[in-house]
Amino acid sequence: MILPITIYSDDVLRRKAKPLKGVDGEIEELVGSMFESMRNASGIGLAAPQVGHSLRLLVLDVSSLSNYENEKPMVVINPHILAVRGSNEMEEGCLSVPGVQGDVVRPASLTLKYRDEHFEERLGDFSGMVARVIQHEIDHLNGTLFVDRLEKRDRRKIQKELAALASGVVNAAYPVVTRVLL
Ligand code: ZN
Repeated sequence: MILPITIYSDDVLRRKAKPLKGVDGEIEELVGSMFESMRNASGIGLAAPQVGHSLRLLVLDVSSLSNYENEKPMVVINPHILAVRGSNEMEEGCLSVPGVQGDVVRPASLTLKYRDEHFEERLGDFSGMVARVIQHEIDHLNGTLFVDRLEKRDRRKIQKELAALASGVVNAAYPVVTRVLL
């Protein structure tokens, strides 16, 4: 089922999400809906708070990008970053902040402990776009958005766009849920 994406000023995006205790039918269904909603919006990563669930769960699929065609979709539950290496700058965007892009500096690669879609514990090393998406999505689980990580100068450039999103003016090619604080 395609779920509407929560937008910038929604408080679910600012909460620290709760760990999962296991994977039941309901979570399996949510994971399926998250993949469907992400692909419908042409996204490469999606965290549960972006569909209104404050849970430590994210999905990603970068196989639409060139050089990543063989990369398998991933379900990441209760992630812990154990180590990071290097750093690089990349332009990011976010389905919850439509129409806004900006350069973010993050570690280039990481070691991650997490649980997969069967709630099996996994340990993995990730780099390139996969490491980038994992870090962006883990930020969502901690109530952080990529715009929080922009340099002041870059953030000033998008103030108008953020104010518009906060006031409920959203131009997105996918279903969204907007909650306007009055
Ligand atoms: Zn995002």
